[in-house]
Amino acid sequence: MNIDELAASTPIVADLAAGREVVWANPDYGKAATLRQTRADLFDAAARLDRFAPYFVHAFPETAVSGGILESPVLPLPAMKAAITAREHYDLPGALYLKADNQLPISGSIKSRGGIYQVLKIAEQLAVDAGLITYMDDYAAFDTPAFHDLFSHYGISVASTGNLGLSIGIVAAKLGFKATVHMSHDAKQWKKDLLREKGATVVEHDTDFSSAITAGRLAADQDPTVFFIDDEGSVDLYLGYAVAGIRLQKQLRDAGIPVDATHPLFVYLPAGVGGSPSGVTFGLKMIFGDAVHAIFAEPTHVPSVVLGMATTLNEQISVYDIGLDGLTEADGLAVGRPSRLAGHEMRTLLDAITTFKDDRVMAYTAELMDTEHIRVEPSATAGFAALHDAQPLLASKYPMANATHLVWATGGMLVPDDEYERDYTIGEALLKNK
Ligand SMILES: *Cc1c(COP(=O)(O)O)cnc(C)c1O
Repeated sequence: MNIDELAASTPIVADLAAGREVVWANPDYGKAATLRQTRADLFDAAARLDRFAPYFVHAFPETAVSGGILESPVLPLPAMKAAITAREHYDLPGALYLKADNQLPISGSIKSRGGIYQVLKIAEQLAVDAGLITYMDDYAAFDTPAFHDLFSHYGISVASTGNLGLSIGIVAAKLGFKATVHMSHDAKQWKKDLLREKGATVVEHDTDFSSAITAGRLAADQDPTVFFIDDEGSVDLYLGYAVAGIRLQKQLRDAGIPVDATHPLFVYLPAGVGGSPSGVTFGLKMIFGDAVHAIFAEPTHVPSVVLGMATTLNEQISVYDIGLDGLTEADGLAVGRPSRLAGHEMRTLLDAITTFKDDRVMAYTAELMDTEHIRVEPSATAGFAALHDAQPLLASKYPMANATHLVWATGGMLVPDDEYERDYTIGEALLKNK
């Protein structure tokens, strides 16, 4: 890969290679395109999750309060809005909310949407094929020995920076599968410990995520009874994330928050491999159409999705190719090569991508605790950086007076206290130095 040639045709590459913060406006946003996934696929996924609700009530009693549906609240952030707009000196017309996926059951992260969905889809197919269940039965039966016996003959394998491994490993092991999680070097020790405690096998790789995924895929390919869940291109992960769009429509309606041409909805999503934000964006676009606009946020050291999309090379280029180290405090976003799906499917659906320096997410992590008493991991606050950085671009295109801004907080509930304290202390020091 010749960076100079690339930068000549795509000037933003020079900024990315230099680690500068950028705002990339997608030139193809809103153009006509044929999407590979349809609204029917989205509703098929939603119906599957509904069928499994009785299973969750049975197997994960903490989900009984929501009837076995894994969903997170939308929280107003008046104090956070006042704090960040004062500290970062900008006006933010409209109201600010948090999509609190840091509270999603099981993994405490957005990965509970896609990862668990794909495990359920595999389990359902195997059980139906074996004649153990029909689509009309009570799926609480999945939590019985006959099903565990069936699944014990199969493996489910995944590579992860941490949270995807947690969501898949925990549910797969609970169903009775042999669950294997390949972890990259940035994966936190507590995530490995928790997975082992839940019955999953953790394979530690001394490499970055992209290499861990390749190793995991190869190992699974050797064994026909092992299903490999591929974070770099799985349609089922994507659809699992997308169901959020259907559910958000009802949450906003119930909260009396309109979404239409004069009340646009802006959603700010952290991107690692690009799978979860792309899936959510697809789901939102299927539901809200032109009234919703998605903006992704990536670390300056790991701008994999914007590099892929801006150059249109997508998964054919990695951040290492332009000399970046791929290291970030936002460990959920430490993915140097974008997913095969993200760039293609987002080409016409994604409004913009911004990149941020790590210090900013540390500061937001502390600020969100100080102002709203909400505990998240650093990756989960990336949307606040995009919120600030994208306002001039958005204001040049849309009526902002009645905007709803939704920052997607993607993880944090399971972070151990000592780890959280460390991040909070770093963030608090950054806030004080301001
Ligand atoms: C995985 C993850 C993301 C990004 O999702 P991708 O599918 O990798 O783009 C964001 N935040 C957290 C906390 C995550 O775990």
